[in-house]
Amino acid sequence: MENKQHAFTLSIDWEDFGQLLGRDRSGVLTPSLPKTIDRQTDIILEMLNESGKKATFFILGMLANHRADLVKKIAAEGHEIGMHGQHHINMRTLTREQAFNDLSDAKKLITDIIGGPVYGYRAPYFSVDDSNLYVLEILAELGLMYDSSIFPIKLKRYGIANFPKEDALYLLPNGKEIVELPLTTGRFNGKDIPVAGGGYIRAFPKFFLNRMFKKLNDGQQNVMLYMHPYEFDTKRIDCSTNYPENSNFSKTKTFLINLRWNLFRNSIRGKLKSLLNQYEFITCFKKAKHVKTTTHSPRILGRPQ
Ligand SMILES: [Zn+2]
Repeated sequence: MENKQHAFTLSIDWEDFGQLLGRDRSGVLTPSLPKTIDRQTDIILEMLNESGKKATFFILGMLANHRADLVKKIAAEGHEIGMHGQHHINMRTLTREQAFNDLSDAKKLITDIIGGPVYGYRAPYFSVDDSNLYVLEILAELGLMYDSSIFPIKLKRYGIANFPKEDALYLLPNGKEIVELPLTTGRFNGKDIPVAGGGYIRAFPKFFLNRMFKKLNDGQQNVMLYMHPYEFDTKRIDCSTNYPENSNFSKTKTFLINLRWNLFRNSIRGKLKSLLNQYEFITCFKKAKHVKTTTHSPRILGRPQ
């Protein structure tokens, strides 16, 4: 079904944790390890192919720099290519000018690779909140149609309290418009909780997730799933294979990172397959386009609705 708003969306923040770990620990930008990112990307593409569903891949520039071939492969299978910025830095730590540069670099790189436009963006660490909403203005200035970076509840490290949970078109202070596709939260014991991310899908039991997603679907609510390539891996991932040369990591640190990368990870493919089979899935672009074409008067950002 075309242009339907109340469908599920699978979004993949396409980045390589090994490459990010190497960069964050050593300051040196390493290429990603082909065997991991290739394998992980292939698993995702195969699952999508089997279910006949299309997803949105938010491509990280610093990975696309090394693996334009994989970005082209994803696009060639009919999935939407969005952007995840160039350097994977928390947007709240950047000045407006630095944020502009990160976003325009990513846009140039990715549009060059796919030979077509990008319409949407997901910020690293969901780092768009009420302190830097100008990021949305930058996206609109760069010609993007939508953003999907805002968590509509206040969590420890990100989110905006009481932000509208539904997809909507906003009028920005610079006079431009942008569609926001917020991340999904579910209601449990009278509280809003995040349910749609890889970490949560790993941790919550299948019956709980099924109930939660059925409730969201029955209530015609926006469902935006977000995952990372490593979460699909069928093999155990060991962070020490990604350590930069001559780095000195403690055994405890290695143990903790490996635990975070591997815990309950094997349950994720089965849970996702069952969602792909049960529900209708459309890309972020289709959702955003639907919102844009059916909204008569956009909301004013930051004003109570
Ligand atoms: Zn990311």
